Amino acid sequence: MPTEIHHFVSGARVSGRSDRTAPCFNPATGEQSGIVPLASAVEVGSAVAAAKQAFPAWAETPPLRRARILNRFLRLCEERTDQLAAVITAEHGKVLSDAAGEIQRGLEVVEFATGIPQLLKGEITENVGTRVDSHSLRQPLGVVAGITPFNFPAMVPMWMFPVAIACGNCFILKPSERDPSASLLMAEWLIEAGLPAGVFNVVHGDKEAVDALLHHPDVQAVSFVGSTPIARYIYGTAALQGKRAQALGGAKNHMIVMPDADLDQAADALMGAAYGSAGERCMAISVAVPVGEQTAERLLEKLVPRVSALKVGPGTDPESEMGPLVTRQHRDKVSAYIDQGVAEGAELVVDGRGLSLQGYENGYFLGGTLFDRVTPDMTIYKEEIFGPVLAIARAPDYATAARMINEHEFGNGTAIFTRDGDAARDFAHAIQVGMVGINVPIPVPMAFHSFGGWKASLFGDHHMHGPEGVRFYTRLKTITSRWPTGIRAGADFVMPTLG
Ligand code: NAD
Repeated sequence: MPTEIHHFVSGARVSGRSDRTAPCFNPATGEQSGIVPLASAVEVGSAVAAAKQAFPAWAETPPLRRARILNRFLRLCEERTDQLAAVITAEHGKVLSDAAGEIQRGLEVVEFATGIPQLLKGEITENVGTRVDSHSLRQPLGVVAGITPFNFPAMVPMWMFPVAIACGNCFILKPSERDPSASLLMAEWLIEAGLPAGVFNVVHGDKEAVDALLHHPDVQAVSFVGSTPIARYIYGTAALQGKRAQALGGAKNHMIVMPDADLDQAADALMGAAYGSAGERCMAISVAVPVGEQTAERLLEKLVPRVSALKVGPGTDPESEMGPLVTRQHRDKVSAYIDQGVAEGAELVVDGRGLSLQGYENGYFLGGTLFDRVTPDMTIYKEEIFGPVLAIARAPDYATAARMINEHEFGNGTAIFTRDGDAARDFAHAIQVGMVGINVPIPVPMAFHSFGGWKASLFGDHHMHGPEGVRFYTRLKTITSRWPTGIRAGADFVMPTLG
């Protein structure tokens, strides 16, 4: 029997009341494991009301006390990482060690947010005019919402809510309906850590719930991570409603391999970056750009045996390097991209289609796939595939390789592998991408820096977590004060110039 998944409002699990639900599956077996309620606008309204009610007391709670609650939440998550990882693997499919890795990266944002008393310190200037002082401070926004994708059911929510609630906001999380259970564990552990009811709420749903959040007058800001068409829609709709919005979208991350690179290192890096989590990462490398024919041939020589030997299996098997894709539809979509690549004339060097695993015949598996001689006019080059498919797009020289990246629609992450400091410096300076790695294949910024891409990979002006997260979830107030004596000087009708 599939288990009923609940919303989480005012500190407790609550059943869905709309008549709409969606099934959740175990991607390794293909069996339905859960049934998730899809919230109506009325249910979203109840969650927003709960958050709004909790806000005044939470906003007045001293930042140090808010930080201590997050500290206790951090410890609970550390002690229970295995439990949370098991829930992620059961609904998402990724291997357990990778699920534990995403929890670790998420918890680093919680650690960052525990420094909130320091991060919220404002600025003061004495004597902006004679005996007049000015100070600036940052205050919370109120009720804020986060809408998250399926591929990191713990980490991406943790890019948002620890910073938001540390700043004094109340949060509504609308997680992906494909793997919704991790968010409920986190909600319960926050309560156990001492978070007041209503400060963190989870509402499941699809477009109807998202639209209700986007149009609700009491939601002040919306953070989104997901695909580019939806990111564009979220940003535009939220902005029209006068809300603050940050919407992170899709990606097509290139890795340039220069002729002087350590090719064993580059090949190993590509394996993890292209096939880890079955390529379902927004920072996955999906295009390798070897510079020069010789580099391409040598790189292929190293990649082909590695890709062919990838161990694909259920995420619960410690031997598996790559689990299944998230849904049957997504597996079939990725498979169709491989068909299209062949039809468009790319050279299919390793074919992952049609993989069937004994005992897991109904799982959504796809083997590692490698294309060579992919060119910028092909669909498999232009579009995000979001699966275990690596394209090799050869470039004759560094300038062409860099131009390919700069001309691409997306600008999330990129990397260069080289021993040449001059090429690396030029790359870091001139490339039109938000997160850049030099001999680092997946340059995800640490929690105390901020995460975000450029171009069609991010709509809005704030990246996530780190200092940008604090700015996004607070607004600036500047106070200018003068204490008596000057007050009896009479009315002044010209623009005040305090200096
Ligand atoms: P998605 O866009 O389908 O869904 C993301 C969220 O939006 C989900 O909560 C979903 O319920 C909601 N949603 C879906 N359709 C909607 C609609 N029509 N109107 C309103 N809301 C809607 O994305 P996904 O398939 O869950 O995740 C994969 C995508 O996320 C990839 O494109 C990947 O690159 C991207 N991603 C980007 C980053 C980043 O940092 N840039 C990080 C992780 C994932």
